[in-house]
Amino acid sequence: MDYQQILSAIRSLPAAEQRQLVNELTGHSVKQDYISVRREKLINKQTGCPHCNSLKYYRYGKDKGSIRFMCKECKRTFTEYSGTWLAGIHKKGLINDYLDLMHEQKSLDKIKSALHINKKTAFDWRHKILSSFQEIEKQDFNGIIESDETFFLQSDKGNRHLKHKGRKRGGTSSKRGISDDQVAVIVTADRKGTMDLTVATMGRIEKKDIQNAIGSRISKGSILCTDGHVSYKGFAMDSNLDQIVLRADLKQHVKQGIYHIQNVNSLHNRVKKWIDSTFWGVSTKYLQNYMNWFRIEQAFRKSICAEQDMIDCSTEDKLTLSRYRQINVRYEMLIATQT
Ligand SMILES: [Zn+2]
Repeated sequence: MDYQQILSAIRSLPAAEQRQLVNELTGHSVKQDYISVRREKLINKQTGCPHCNSLKYYRYGKDKGSIRFMCKECKRTFTEYSGTWLAGIHKKGLINDYLDLMHEQKSLDKIKSALHINKKTAFDWRHKILSSFQEIEKQDFNGIIESDETFFLQSDKGNRHLKHKGRKRGGTSSKRGISDDQVAVIVTADRKGTMDLTVATMGRIEKKDIQNAIGSRISKGSILCTDGHVSYKGFAMDSNLDQIVLRADLKQHVKQGIYHIQNVNSLHNRVKKWIDSTFWGVSTKYLQNYMNWFRIEQAFRKSICAEQDMIDCSTEDKLTLSRYRQINVRYEMLIATQT
């Protein structure tokens, strides 16, 4: 067995066994208490006040078992959980086990019976945590950048209290080509592995959708590879970007040996396969969260303590709970793009 084979064998072990292995090898215990990480960071001033980002805060008693702080700058108090997904979870004693099961991508039913919580709780926790992935690991793109959209059929899976009636499926669409009961996801990747998957709109994408998804994250001098979609042309022109167009209908798959969109097209296939085989399809309302999950798993796939690293990043995000509460509003806005 060579190093890579051993590594991939280790990665196929459950998280708890991976930790055990690291403990054996290093002779000291790897932290498996994910939630104390943020407390340590606050005590050691490695992170700012969640309201104003100042480091001028001090310990200020306790609040329902969590440590409270007072900020000298903005005169507000906060706890170690404020704003993060941790604040939205009451049975904190179960979080570490929940995170292990989630990281192993166990079904909600399995989590329900393993932790004796109801399925709705398991679902809500999943989406609170996934909401925290939205803005982390979003570096700028540079060099050769590939971007292309892919489509998921609109799904109301699990939305029992849906205000909007789901569109009837199976009928014939009055429009040609891409119909607006399909959700467009813009997938972008550069060659160093920076990635973005943005649920953009219902139906065909426009220039502004691309701008919103990746416009602020493209470094100067980058080269954008896309298909012949007119919206990408417009976006590249507006952004003063060099663009290489690859038209599959003209059998233009690779230009000059290096320009192609095969990495994003392979991402399209992988993310769809993952959604279908792991979750048997997901609701459109939560699609962005699953895109976040896929992206973050990819971003940390080479980390030896992937789970710990993901949680560390995710508990840094102090806007998670407000983002989670806006899931319905964002869904309404998405559906409103149907013409
Ligand atoms: Zn403050």
